[in-house]
Amino acid sequence: MAGKKIGVLALQGAFIEHQDSLKKCGVESFQIRTKDDLDKIDGLIIPGGESTTIGRLMVKYGIDRKIIEKAEEGMPIWGTCAGMILLAKELDKDEPWLRLMDIKVKRNAYGRQVDSFETELDIKGLGKTRGVFIRAPYVEKVWGEAEVLCEHDDKIVMVKERNILATSFHPELTDDLALHKFFVELC
Ligand code: GLN
Repeated sequence: MAGKKIGVLALQGAFIEHQDSLKKCGVESFQIRTKDDLDKIDGLIIPGGESTTIGRLMVKYGIDRKIIEKAEEGMPIWGTCAGMILLAKELDKDEPWLRLMDIKVKRNAYGRQVDSFETELDIKGLGKTRGVFIRAPYVEKVWGEAEVLCEHDDKIVMVKERNILATSFHPELTDDLALHKFFVELC
């Protein structure tokens, strides 16, 4: 795992927390702010935050097109929460952004009263982990090669499609490094 260089998109949101988790795995990480930054990494994490803000900044700096190119070349990408929203080919209300995954995502899907919660999750192939959900989306529909890796209360909260991974929840806000290790191994 050591030797891999992981980028964390650092336009807005919880990028520092992902870097902390990667550091605990002994993995070097870089903050990605320009499209040229994408040339020096083996994999990219798109963090949680505000998907509209991250999306607009990505487009403004031309990073969106370069991420799509890299994804098509096979670079692993992992979106958490807002990152999942940015990866979807379909959204319930808004125009989609990167359109990289065969999933339809509902934003702020858990409603206002239960904006945020923590629960135990069981991930296919990885086992139990703590799931932190913050104004989280869930996946309403998958098709094509998208494979469901975790459901919670009959809602899809983790999907993998070839080199791309999306989670509704925030592993970077827990002490469990299993998902970060899983992603780095994909890289
Ligand atoms: N609700 C946010 C959005 O729609 C995502 C929340 C998060 O990333 N924690 O972008």
